[in-house]
Amino acid sequence: MTKFTDLKLNPKVLKAVEEAGYESPTPIQAGAIPPALEGRDVLGIAQTGTGKTASFTLPMITQLARGRARARMPRSLVLCPTRELAAQVAENFDTYSKYVKLTKALLIGGVSFKEQDTLIDKGVDVLIATPGRLLDHFERGKLILNDVKVMVVDEADRMLDMGFIPDIERIFGLTPFTRQTLFFSATMAPEIERITNTFLSNPERIEVARQATTSENITQGVVMFKASRKDREGSEKRKLLRTIIDAEGEKCTNAIIFCNRKTDVDVVAKSLKKYGYDAAPIHGDLDQSQRTRTLDGFRGGDLRFLVASDVAARGLDVPAVSHVFNFDVPSHAEDYVHRIGRTGRAGRDGTAIMICVPRDERNLEDVERLVQNAIPRLDNPLGGGKRAEEAAVEADEKPKTRSRSRKAKVEEVPAVEDAVVEEAAPEDKPKRTRRSRKKDDAPAEAPVVEAEAEAPVEEAEKPRGEEKRRSRGGRGRGRDGGGGGRDNKVVGLGDHTPEFIGLSFAERPS
Ligand code: AMP
Repeated sequence: MTKFTDLKLNPKVLKAVEEAGYESPTPIQAGAIPPALEGRDVLGIAQTGTGKTASFTLPMITQLARGRARARMPRSLVLCPTRELAAQVAENFDTYSKYVKLTKALLIGGVSFKEQDTLIDKGVDVLIATPGRLLDHFERGKLILNDVKVMVVDEADRMLDMGFIPDIERIFGLTPFTRQTLFFSATMAPEIERITNTFLSNPERIEVARQATTSENITQGVVMFKASRKDREGSEKRKLLRTIIDAEGEKCTNAIIFCNRKTDVDVVAKSLKKYGYDAAPIHGDLDQSQRTRTLDGFRGGDLRFLVASDVAARGLDVPAVSHVFNFDVPSHAEDYVHRIGRTGRAGRDGTAIMICVPRDERNLEDVERLVQNAIPRLDNPLGGGKRAEEAAVEADEKPKTRSRSRKAKVEEVPAVEDAVVEEAAPEDKPKRTRRSRKKDDAPAEAPVVEAEAEAPVEEAEKPRGEEKRRSRGGRGRGRDGGGGGRDNKVVGLGDHTPEFIGLSFAERPS
């Protein structure tokens, strides 16, 4: 087995590695460090958790230990898709370069340009940046990329997902042709292949096995769940999440809860907080100081539940996370691997529990195909699955009537109706259908409002169409057929007789 001492790293770097407690290089490190030290381009196909960050930082520090940077002309460049990942790479540089004098700057959004400009003006050996922020600095004339000797692209597949590929191509074009490129991606999509063929020169290709997703120390499970009614799916799912968390009890010391959409990240975090859980959201739309505060709180054990989007949590290294809850089945199967890899780190035990609604079953199949294992089905701790399904079928048969004004309300206060809706959850009032609710408590705003928030596209189109019909016809028509209960005057076509009624349908003589 390769040892770090076999890798021709600078002795000061070796000392820092030893202090970090690493016994031997991981496969990506053993594969990438030697060619990187020889100055060759490297194409590393590896994902987070494999030790890939050290596989480029260690040789870079060794190479940069010689020479000095000139003002505004960084000697190396590391591009990362997210601020968090960039910050984490910066931390890695700090750890491994503690015995080597190197200067570095972190260019990420949400941090003032002035501070960053001052550092760049002095000259930096390593510039770690997100692509957009780097180009902002370049366009302001604050940065010259002609002296970049090593350029790293980290998590290229995520860059692709986030639409950064044109920026990356542009940055490649701004750096010298003679630079060395170290390029990392978890997967090789055709677009990534194209970029590597264009910008890498005869790279050493190192592919490491996928992270063991079904590693024995992570207990996995999925709860198959169908809401009692489509419009209650969000609130019932949140209730289910709380019940799952409660069932885990003290075993759940802390957890990351993943949602597919940013809006759900906010709604779930707000809802958990409202029910007394110590939770905070993290996603790309929050400002940097808030993201940093939330992450620091989670890392330090002051925050128990981190509700996150894939992008924000990508590559985050928090050593002791007892649980991962997938509020949704991820739509990219690989994200499942990344998500559950946040728990069970460094040989600890971990638990990963996912909620799957019927429309996510295809995604679940994709995940199971990828991990080559069936994820065990867990009982729904709320019970009542069958009853909920029956209620849902009944509800689906009824036509929908919602008004646009109600939709507007929800979007402002998405989580607030939780309590109202959950009072009427199927468990409490199992026999209720849309029809009976309308009769019993006619203006019931909140449940309708909730429904719009959870399914804005599909559901919201309908009331709009309905309203148009009403305004054209000049009269409302109820869904129970014709009369609508309140306005019995309208029968058939009402006051309006369309022109075609008067036309003859007799065949024209030929
Ligand atoms: P990464 O894939 O770069 O996100 O690294 C994942 C984790 O592995 C980080 O916590 C690193 O500190 C750790 N790590 C990196 N290299 C090694 C190594 N050779 N031995 C043990 N742990 C490592």
